[in-house]
Amino acid sequence: PVPVLAVIGRPNVGKSTLVNRILGRREAVVEDIPGVTRDRVSYDAVWNGRAFTVVDTGGWDPDARGMAERIAAQAEIAIGLADATLFVVDATVGITDADEAVVKILRKSGKPVILAANKVDDERAEAEAYGLWNLGLGEPFPVSALHGRGSGDLLDAVLKAL
Ligand code: GDP
Ligand code: MG
Repeated sequence: PVPVLAVIGRPNVGKSTLVNRILGRREAVVEDIPGVTRDRVSYDAVWNGRAFTVVDTGGWDPDARGMAERIAAQAEIAIGLADATLFVVDATVGITDADEAVVKILRKSGKPVILAANKVDDERAEAEAYGLWNLGLGEPFPVSALHGRGSGDLLDAVLKAL
């Protein structure tokens, strides 16, 4: 069986865009209107000759009450099914309560976590990623899922964790 990578994080941080970047094709649904991705969708991926499964998560209405709890519950399921988790944060927004709830679950799981600081589209934005060291999840990988910046280093780290 190939290893499974779960991609989790708040709505609109760029999870599906990053999944497309990992797949090297446009398949995961990206929407400017958040909350489009169904609960969990799996894709076959290959990086540096190694096959793995990527699970995109989503499907939350960001305006719904109890959204943070729903994200946390969904994250717990996805983490439980995965060998490693790619936790995506929007570096231009920083950490929210919903992120904190997911971090607690990630810590509890004891499974490997790769922290992606997304939307770092240029060098100037990189400084915002360093604040994410505070999450206590190790090195934040600055990446632009949209433009591909930093995605090679991120994927190398993913493969090491799987
Ligand atoms: P998801 O809800 O986490 O799956 O987020 P999506 O992948 O659907 O992306 C939400 C929005 O963020 C879309 O408008 C994307 O084009 C945008 N986005 C995703 N990644 C980046 C990035 O690296 N930089 C910028 N500037 N926008 C991004
Ligand atoms: Mg999505």
